[in-house]
Amino acid sequence: MQSLPKKYNFAEIERKWQQKWEEMEIYRFDWNDTNRTPYTIDTPPPYPSGEFHMGNILNWTYFDIVARYKRMRGFNVLFPQGWDCHGLSIEIQVEKEQKIRKRDVPPDQFRRWCEQLIERYIALMKGSILKLGCSIDWTTEYRTMDPDYWRRTQLSFVLLHKKGFMYQGTHPVNWCPRCETAIADAEVDYEKRQGALNYIRFPLEGTGEHLLIATSRPEFIPACVAVEVNPEDARFNKYIGKTIVVPVVNHPVKIIADEAVDPSFGTGVVMICTYGDKEDVKTVMKHKLPVIKVLTDNGRINENGGKYAGLTINQARKAIIEDLEAAGLLEKIEPLSQEVGVCDRCKTHVEILEHKQWFMKTRMLTDQVEKTANEVVWYPDYMKARLIDWAKSLDWDWVISRQRVFATPIPVWYCKKCGELILADEKWVPIDPKLENPRIDKCPKCGSTEFIPERDVFDTWMDSSITCAVHAGWPDRPDWKRLFPADVHPSGIDIIRTWAYYLMVRHLALFGETPYKSCLINGMVLGSDGRKMSKSLKNYVAAPEVLDKYGSDATRQWAAGGGATGSDIPFRWPDVEYGRRFLVKLWNVSKFAINLLEGYAPSEKVEFELQPLDKWILSKAEKLTQKVAEAMEKCQFNVAVEEIRNFTWHLFCDYYIEAVKDKLYNPDVYGQAKKLAAQYTLYTVLYRILQLLAPMTPHLTEEIYQAMYAETKGFESLQISPWPEHNSALEDETVEKNGDLVMAIMSGVRQDKAENKLPLNAPVKTLDVYAGSAEAANVITSVKEDIAGTLKIAEVRVHPEKRGDGKQVSPYDVSFQIEY
Ligand SMILES: [Zn+2]
Ligand SMILES: [Zn+2]
Repeated sequence: MQSLPKKYNFAEIERKWQQKWEEMEIYRFDWNDTNRTPYTIDTPPPYPSGEFHMGNILNWTYFDIVARYKRMRGFNVLFPQGWDCHGLSIEIQVEKEQKIRKRDVPPDQFRRWCEQLIERYIALMKGSILKLGCSIDWTTEYRTMDPDYWRRTQLSFVLLHKKGFMYQGTHPVNWCPRCETAIADAEVDYEKRQGALNYIRFPLEGTGEHLLIATSRPEFIPACVAVEVNPEDARFNKYIGKTIVVPVVNHPVKIIADEAVDPSFGTGVVMICTYGDKEDVKTVMKHKLPVIKVLTDNGRINENGGKYAGLTINQARKAIIEDLEAAGLLEKIEPLSQEVGVCDRCKTHVEILEHKQWFMKTRMLTDQVEKTANEVVWYPDYMKARLIDWAKSLDWDWVISRQRVFATPIPVWYCKKCGELILADEKWVPIDPKLENPRIDKCPKCGSTEFIPERDVFDTWMDSSITCAVHAGWPDRPDWKRLFPADVHPSGIDIIRTWAYYLMVRHLALFGETPYKSCLINGMVLGSDGRKMSKSLKNYVAAPEVLDKYGSDATRQWAAGGGATGSDIPFRWPDVEYGRRFLVKLWNVSKFAINLLEGYAPSEKVEFELQPLDKWILSKAEKLTQKVAEAMEKCQFNVAVEEIRNFTWHLFCDYYIEAVKDKLYNPDVYGQAKKLAAQYTLYTVLYRILQLLAPMTPHLTEEIYQAMYAETKGFESLQISPWPEHNSALEDETVEKNGDLVMAIMSGVRQDKAENKLPLNAPVKTLDVYAGSAEAANVITSVKEDIAGTLKIAEVRVHPEKRGDGKQVSPYDVSFQIEY
């Protein structure tokens, strides 16, 4: 047995083991091992933002606890790591850094800048993941921006196209005018904004009358194609079928009836514009109304806006209001607090634009998504409703094309002459149609030899929603189905609607199977003020700061113990501090144990009689083992960490070690056999604690294991030692009950010393214990010398009778009297 340094230096220990584990290659997934059952974690490749925040700490701690636990359980664990590189926010960042817009430079140049920025960000995030001590198999590292990954994304598209899941269509889509691209429903955030409700008079044709319409978006008046009222609304139904004149542009439209109009909202008369919002889209489809497109891709009014052409949306709104006022058609303006859809990357107000786009038929899978989501195991269970509700709420198919640069190209061309669509062959990918022609001689339809490349690219989710298959080795490994579906897909509560959903529809469509068997959900990290942690709220704490100050093991305890799995978890410095204090306690008790175990030759077999207190702590340790294993199986990490900390701190350190240390120091008084029994127990229970803690706080437990146990146990690392099997034969209810009584008496005596302002090792002349029954008296008598030794009592006298005076030992019928 080796000694431990005096001071617990977490930075040194953590760095050391992170390096050694990597050298030992214990995190490598063994692709050739057919004996051990594989366990695959579908690590969601993060979007490199350059910043590892406390939410990431929470995610990765969960992933890593599962990985380490399953490894100890004997599984061949695949814990891969990729980077989801493409995306709008990187493009926006490059535009800011280079002070350009993406269309100002050649796409190649722009792409290179994006790649350089991504590499910088990856390096920063990777640094933090390493510092957290995650047991990732780094040989699996991949980047979705690499052509080799394009190959997978493009192949999945080609296959789904052949299966009939992909189509092109001119449909209204969410559009960010700032980013000039289509975005999916999942990329639209909602924000409260202060707007205005404008009451505008629309003249009725051929009469002197008008109808009043309230709108928050007067800039869409040039795109008004109809006016709607509720057919039940007695105020207005007489106008149905009549013609009304759209002010400012002076074009006539029909007044139509629709039960969907809420007579109590606004004035009860609604203008339908193409497109002011999603409701307009529904109305236009239902009534087959014409479409007037008034916006350009970059958010300006186009030629259909007449005199307002060229203005931005805001300028047009102002100009139209002024014109309405001048024409006497503006009745009033009221302030309006409204919820508006904004681009989740740049926070620009999202518009709805009709564009030719690529879509994946996702809505037809909704029933299958629901069925499959019900078969998946969710931690916690109630989270599955989030996926099902989201799938059911979708109005539109998934728009998978984007008008961006830094993304996977869509492997498609069009014949220049006849427009025929040429889909890439499965063998051509990866391919960039902008740089290469299709590998055919001529258009199969008209024989032309000229082709136009598809310039649109894929939504980033097209890359990252095939990871369950990719991690398993698809399409290259013939036996990839061995690792598919993934055993667990871990995800944040905020991305169930994207990640869990897109994974589900892509894999269902591609392979007809669920991509994951279980889904582990983590909540959000809140600031110390209980609000969502955010820089703008000034409650933000940067993860590197926490890791530098307290180290990984303490931080991981915060993540594991901060709250129930799936619930939001507040970040509080005292929680991390508590984690560190626990580690210091474990460090100190291990050092102390090394002293007490001097000369002890570890043995698995018990060759001497275990004493009541030895049996007591061993029985408790078995119970703990069972509770922790149960919690780990259910991903209740907070339960596991609390159980272990309570056991270690209180039962093991405060009671057991205190109670036996006198025996260990003075074998001549108690006898060598009792010392050996206590040494065996100490050695065994501490090992159990280290094993149970190993998935949560891997570094410190490894350091102690290497000093105290490696030589005897023989595992290269605690991380690959087998998870302790719960041994119910060692559990003994009577032993536990009796031990608890003895601990309560000792605790009472300690309290008495404290009340008398005496130190804990103050000598006591006599302790008279009134046991209340002959049975209890026998129990106490059997550990009399432990009580005496621990509490420095010269004489302990045990009486079977009950006495009402003296100190009561609650909740027992026992009392005692002390003479100092
Ligand atoms: Zn945007
Ligand atoms: Zn052709």
